[in-house]
Amino acid sequence: MYERRMGPHHPGRPVYEEALNRKTKCPMCGVGAVRQVDHHMPKSIYPYLAAVPVNLLPICSDCNFAKKDRAPSCYEEQTLHPYFDDVDDDRWLRARLITRTADGQVYRAKPPESPTSWLIEFYVDPPSSWDARLAERVRFHFEIFKLAPLFEDQAAGDIPGIELSIEEAFQAGGAPDVRTHLEGLARSRARPNKNSWMVALYEALAAHDWFCNGGFRQVAAG
Ligand SMILES: [Zn+2]
Repeated sequence: MYERRMGPHHPGRPVYEEALNRKTKCPMCGVGAVRQVDHHMPKSIYPYLAAVPVNLLPICSDCNFAKKDRAPSCYEEQTLHPYFDDVDDDRWLRARLITRTADGQVYRAKPPESPTSWLIEFYVDPPSSWDARLAERVRFHFEIFKLAPLFEDQAAGDIPGIELSIEEAFQAGGAPDVRTHLEGLARSRARPNKNSWMVALYEALAAHDWFCNGGFRQVAAG
């Protein structure tokens, strides 16, 4: 489709070429592979921006689909631009592990209970020093690109893969060692990106007594 739209002499062609060769993750979600070029400000509404390189963002197919031709009607309804909106100096992404009873009541499970269901919930929680409008924008970005369910899926897929290392920590020193292990994973993931879903996930798990005391087996089992 873009092959036809962006011919060899189209001004956006270098961005498109770069997008396809790029090994980095999509700047909108941090998860998907870069496959397409998004017009940050839609060309249907801002045709004069259609060829401006800075308006052409290499992103993943899911984010491109989620955004469609959406045009912001105000500052708070602009999705983040990776070149101009650097919000990653501060922590703004957090997660929590929620456990539920059989009748769906949310409660904080304690060891050795077996809650009927559990959920990792991701949410935007910027520092209070942030301008309220910027905080709204990050929430808007989070909503438009459906980052909460995306990160929940990533977390569900990730936990079985770290279960053995958690089990080994548990056997060696119980819940305190599990917590130390998870906090180490979070620190390691935070070095390149402190708002990685993995940082939020491992911190949330480390903060949950039930999880660290053996609940991890139930969570890893799905
Ligand atoms: Zn994406």
